[in-house]
Amino acid sequence: MIETFVQAAYIVAALLFILALAGLSKHETGKLGNAFGIAGMALAIFATILIATDSAGVGGLAMIIVAMAIGASIGIWRALKVEMTEMPQLIAMLHSFVGLAAMLVGFNSYVEAHQPARRLELESLGMVGVHAGEIFVGIFIGAVTFTGSIIAYLKLSARMKSAPLNLPRHNLINLGAIVVSLLLMIWFVNSEHTLPLLIMTIIALALGAHLVAAIGGGDMPVVVSMLNSYSGWAAAAAGFMLSNDLLIVTGALVGSSGAYLSYIMCKGMNRSFINVIAGGFGSDGAVTGEAKDYGEHRETTAVEVAESLKNAKNVIITPGYGMAVAQAQYPVATLVQKLREKGVNVRFGIHPVAGRLPGHMNVLLAEAKVPYDIVLELDEINDDFDETDVVLVIGANDTVNPAAAEDPSSPIAGMPVLHVWEAGEVVVFKRSMNTGYAGVQNPLFFRDNTVMLFGDAKERVDDIVAAL
Ligand code: NDP
Repeated sequence: MIETFVQAAYIVAALLFILALAGLSKHETGKLGNAFGIAGMALAIFATILIATDSAGVGGLAMIIVAMAIGASIGIWRALKVEMTEMPQLIAMLHSFVGLAAMLVGFNSYVEAHQPARRLELESLGMVGVHAGEIFVGIFIGAVTFTGSIIAYLKLSARMKSAPLNLPRHNLINLGAIVVSLLLMIWFVNSEHTLPLLIMTIIALALGAHLVAAIGGGDMPVVVSMLNSYSGWAAAAAGFMLSNDLLIVTGALVGSSGAYLSYIMCKGMNRSFINVIAGGFGSDGAVTGEAKDYGEHRETTAVEVAESLKNAKNVIITPGYGMAVAQAQYPVATLVQKLREKGVNVRFGIHPVAGRLPGHMNVLLAEAKVPYDIVLELDEINDDFDETDVVLVIGANDTVNPAAAEDPSSPIAGMPVLHVWEAGEVVVFKRSMNTGYAGVQNPLFFRDNTVMLFGDAKERVDDIVAAL
């Protein structure tokens, strides 16, 4: 009876997760998608507790409740404390937990497979070899995800430099690690020895760390979504080991949607997936940038910018990571409202990798209640800059770097960027002449039609609103 209810609940939960993903794909339905996800997860947790209590008794239930209370307290505390700008590293850290969980489930399944009752069950089903394969693959994916996510966490939180680690023949090292792991898998499936499992775990831990350490700052968006995908496959692998259908379905959903997100990110960066793994994009850009002399930059004031905006008919705002740091989205929303009241056509141009998270800018603008219909993607707006009077580049840098489009020797050459320099006037909001995340100098700042408005983006936008 309980078994049937749980299976039915798992199917409903899986459907709710699919609806959640569908909802999250559009701004307008994002909140509803979230609600579906929460409902699905609540149902899944309830059903899991029910079945665990049925098989493990009240003692099992007590252990689950204690574990959930501890986990939920830490989760709520982190969620309340985290700044929006710290979200990418928090997500990377959470991915590492999924990897660790898959590893632990794997080792647990290995020990359990040698218990007499479980052994008999596996033998009667003829599943001994298959189960050993599941364990091996689960631990491998879990270990790669675990260390890869930790390195991503360190890079995103600037605790480790974002430039790629360039070991000689690093692609050969990765390939070697995969080939050796495959050979170890054959040994393990045939012998079920602990040794090949342990050697593979060490290799996979090193491989995960090396894969991410070898990737340059400019490619981090792809890495974040790639690790998202790995964490899904790690969860699906855990589902196979535990014979839990819902975990398999949910893991596969996360794995495939993460893989699709990686594809979108690769497209956004004009890079092939293999190219990203091979590494190096946006590497030592600072050196390249410093070596070139682009001339002098010009500075402006908030009052002068307010004057230009008053006389403009078409304005495009291209926000970037600096808008998130300054939390400037609220005054930006007020500025947009004021300009629209004056009849100015204001729109936003959003680069797919602006900020530090996929969809980072969209979330901030939605938070500040900017109407969705004036928030456009790179492809939708890139041809309109030459008919635009004023572009406000608010805390963006790499995503508006003309070198990507014009200088084949640039470390970010080939990455699609917003063609802001084609507008009549470009105002760049930032605090200094420092480079962006990829460490590449930006010739936009030295163009004749560009002026720099230095200072914290929130304060400067506030000044402009006051001057209007
Ligand atoms: P960048 O990171 O290139 O540049 C941000 C700019 O904001 C800096 O030049 C900085 O200049 C300025 N800034 C910082 N704080 C403030 C502030 N308080 N007020 C005003 N300006 C500020 O931003 P982009 O959004 O253009 O590009 C995103 C980069 O991040 C890309 O290289 C992308 O590959 C990478 N990335 C993206 C991820 C994603 O999923 N979206 C994930 C990981 C990396 P200054 O210090 O002088 O103020």
